[in-house]
Amino acid sequence: MRLLLIEDEEKTAAALAQGFSEAGFDVVTARRGDEGLALARGGGPDVVILDIGLPRLDGWAVLTALRTQRTRVPVVCLTARDAIEDRVRGLELGADDYVVKPFAFAELLARVRRLLRDVPPPGQAVLRVGDLEIDLLRQRATRGGQPLDLTAREFALLALLARRRGEPLNRREIAAEVWGMPVDGDSNAIDVAVRRLRAKVDEPFDAPLVHTIRGVGYVLEARP
Ligand code: CA
Repeated sequence: MRLLLIEDEEKTAAALAQGFSEAGFDVVTARRGDEGLALARGGGPDVVILDIGLPRLDGWAVLTALRTQRTRVPVVCLTARDAIEDRVRGLELGADDYVVKPFAFAELLARVRRLLRDVPPPGQAVLRVGDLEIDLLRQRATRGGQPLDLTAREFALLALLARRRGEPLNRREIAAEVWGMPVDGDSNAIDVAVRRLRAKVDEPFDAPLVHTIRGVGYVLEARP
């Protein structure tokens, strides 16, 4: 597995490079944003670790450039900033995960491994649940052949439910996977998001696919 590490702080870069090498990754390091972007374009890494505060081209610009070219390589952003707006911005720009400095290496490694596990192998990039089709590479979903107009967040939520189809997911898991952050027990943000998703995925059609599991959370499945 080829890992591209874009990080300007020497000590952090050296520690991460060593950690990932020991974990079996083939690590390439860049110190500047422009250099990292060139390597990401040219080298075809399997995963990118991207610091946000970088010289020349910051992490936001690198991420935007990568996603504009429809490069679907998984990207984990590193930042010292803990503002929720920053996390949301990163996820909306197409980051797959987000780690706030200082972090434990084990946590970053676990997130990278999870992302690599979630990347669909070629030929399995389209998930099907009943007449619902989710194209993970093109980030598009259709139901009964009709395109669904989903926001990036709604697509991420639907893709999560589809990858784990038939398996009830609780609100905490959904928040961690889709928003990259914990929600407190009273928050109804997940319910609101699911309601919006249902309005597009289920309401215009005959058979609902998103089901509520009382006291647990939600499951996506075609029921006879
Ligand atoms: Ca930095």
